[in-house]
Amino acid sequence: MKYEKLVDRFIAYAKVNTRSNETSTTIPSDPKEVAFLAKLASEIKELGFADVRTMKDGYLFARIPASKGKETVDPIGFIAHVDTADFNAENIQPEVHENYDGESVIKLNDDYNLDPAVFPNLHNYKGHTLITTDGTTLLGADDKAGVAEIITAMSYLLDHPQIQHGEIEIAFGPDEEIGVGADHFDTKNFAAKFAFTVDGSIKGELEWATFSASAAVIKAVGTQVHPSSGFGKLINPLIAIIDVFNLLPNERPENTKGDQGYYYLLNLDGDGDSAMANLIIRDFKRDGLAKRKQILADAVKKVNSAYPHLVLELSQHDQYYNMADILKDHMESVHLAEAAFKALSIEADEQPVRGGTDGSKITFLGLPTPNIFTGAENLHGRYEFASVQDMELATDVILKIIELHSK
Ligand SMILES: [Zn+2]
Repeated sequence: MKYEKLVDRFIAYAKVNTRSNETSTTIPSDPKEVAFLAKLASEIKELGFADVRTMKDGYLFARIPASKGKETVDPIGFIAHVDTADFNAENIQPEVHENYDGESVIKLNDDYNLDPAVFPNLHNYKGHTLITTDGTTLLGADDKAGVAEIITAMSYLLDHPQIQHGEIEIAFGPDEEIGVGADHFDTKNFAAKFAFTVDGSIKGELEWATFSASAAVIKAVGTQVHPSSGFGKLINPLIAIIDVFNLLPNERPENTKGDQGYYYLLNLDGDGDSAMANLIIRDFKRDGLAKRKQILADAVKKVNSAYPHLVLELSQHDQYYNMADILKDHMESVHLAEAAFKALSIEADEQPVRGGTDGSKITFLGLPTPNIFTGAENLHGRYEFASVQDMELATDVILKIIELHSK
């Protein structure tokens, strides 16, 4: 095997619980992430990465210096996140299934299976070695696969000094899954001209267009009186919020696809006294996002106007923007990745992502950062799995990007 340590590295990282914490007000959101990043720091120092440093925002930065004679090549960067999604991450036990036949049901435990009838994508992995969960946790390949691939590619370069390359910047960060990790990414201290997040999924993914995103909180204060004497007096805050949602266009994640945006009610909590809802709005176009925010604001206003006093309060904030708005004028990084895919006979899938990436934020901070695949699927839950062959390919892509760029 070309990358002897890739699998061991990935499994070792996957076993560490680094679930981020949405309710935290600090970045990194959880001490578990800090501890894992500190361990990574000593590991990459030992491997020979230069300039290993922890930044104020929790990011671990490092550098692979240019080969002699390649100092004038523009530095490029690779970025991955260490936190895992909002799913059980206690006692993760990755399981290796060698030479999968592309047909069988993979038993995770007595209650859960990976069944090609449910996940037909499994047919694509005939002959692959798959790494799955034991059915009780997520795997965390999102994005421990990216971390392992970047470290493996860099350590390959360090072990093969005959490969000539320019300077490479590396960053491992916290809290991607709760959408805040990259908010303060220190582009000024990250010397790359452009970078890649290694945080995609299926082989071939090359993502440079994402949603533009905004989040809304609706708070409602009701008037609680006994229902027997409620006539004309009782105001039910839960109903007020439901009324708002029913005024919105019927565009929801479950009935939109492709380039269509949506409104998504994340939660609704409360009682007769007060209630609160969180929802998110997604649209590929900036003006489309603005229009949807206005529709929500108008709906709140309309419901409020039916009451004798203010019942609903709305706050909205933008989360990230479609990175294609910037990247369309800075396509060098995308073209480089396309060339690397082509050289490795990987068919590029450049469909806009119905989501965002750390790259969306980092791109808007001034560092063009498309996203490439990691070789894992069914992310964020117990059905997550990674293909060893595709993880190797992702590692090949990183090295090929560097090789082509350094010519
Ligand atoms: Zn991710």
